[in-house]
Amino acid sequence: MLDTRASTYKKYLTVAVIALICVFIFCEYLLYYLVLIQCTWPTLDARKVDVSIVQPVPEETPVHAMFIADTHLLGSKNGHWFDKLKREWQMYRAFQTMVTLHKPDIIFILGDLFDEGQWSSSAEFDQYVQRFHSLFSVPKNTHLYVVAGNHDIGFHYAITPYLNQRMALEGDGCFLCRPAEIALNKIAAQLKCAKNTENSCNKDNVISRYSRPIILQHYPMYRESDEICNELDQAPDEIKNIKFREGWECLSREASEQVLDILNPRLIINGHTHHGCRRIHRKDIFEFTIPSFSWRNKDNPSLLLGVFSPNNYSVSKCYMPKESTEIKIYIISVLCIFVYFIIKCKLKQNRHYLLKFH
Ligand SMILES: [Zn+2]
Repeated sequence: MLDTRASTYKKYLTVAVIALICVFIFCEYLLYYLVLIQCTWPTLDARKVDVSIVQPVPEETPVHAMFIADTHLLGSKNGHWFDKLKREWQMYRAFQTMVTLHKPDIIFILGDLFDEGQWSSSAEFDQYVQRFHSLFSVPKNTHLYVVAGNHDIGFHYAITPYLNQRMALEGDGCFLCRPAEIALNKIAAQLKCAKNTENSCNKDNVISRYSRPIILQHYPMYRESDEICNELDQAPDEIKNIKFREGWECLSREASEQVLDILNPRLIINGHTHHGCRRIHRKDIFEFTIPSFSWRNKDNPSLLLGVFSPNNYSVSKCYMPKESTEIKIYIISVLCIFVYFIIKCKLKQNRHYLLKFH
């Protein structure tokens, strides 16, 4: 009798453990597919074609690009091992699921890849790079490009004013901004050559055909604060109105104007603030700030999907699973499984006493 009871309890326990494993697989694997399959590539709107640009030939198919920002891989100093494990698994799964489901041609990570890049020794930095490549590995025909952020190469306050100036184009004619300005002017000259408006062009111009450029950078363009942002993944209310410091949370006003003047971009995409924002400069220049890709910094991270041709583009946001949703699923499921187990055991116990007294 005792043996049958024990084996029945064992059966209930096995069912409970299997149910827990299923919940774990759902939350750590299937949830990503379920949420990310809902994202779609945007479509090019024929009404938005830039008629001043030469029409691409039919063989030139639009490029499908994916943009993420601020992955902040933890190093040896910050964060608990579980924090590191959980958030890296989340980024790994979200990234790899996106690559499997949507197959982007090109992926850009817009800075702050590492959380402690600026403090790392060269050996630690090499390990960091290896970990980055294992988490964000891409198939052979997909191109991955990264932009350096302040956490990768240094904080403003931790380094000298000399390097502080180097971090952002400050637009005040400072000595260290000159190399950046020269590089920008060179790109502008190449763009003009491609557009055939410059007489002094040589035939080896690196840009063979003109289209308005797309600027990818870590820092947002100048804005007073996130108050103007109105997105699902915008900054929480309590920090939305906090004023940005020029050169810290965003480029300086002057540098932003300078970049817009020199390059006349069609689109600007950046990160750094860890919260989403969308705004418009000079009538038709859209700027998107992408939130942090890590659950450590954002409960509802998102990424940007874009389809680009020389004379047109379209972008759409893709939302990751929320960390709070995952936690709720775990709590509710574990409670249900626990209640199931207790009820089943109690029923079995009652049945046993009934049989005993009859
Ligand atoms: Zn940053």
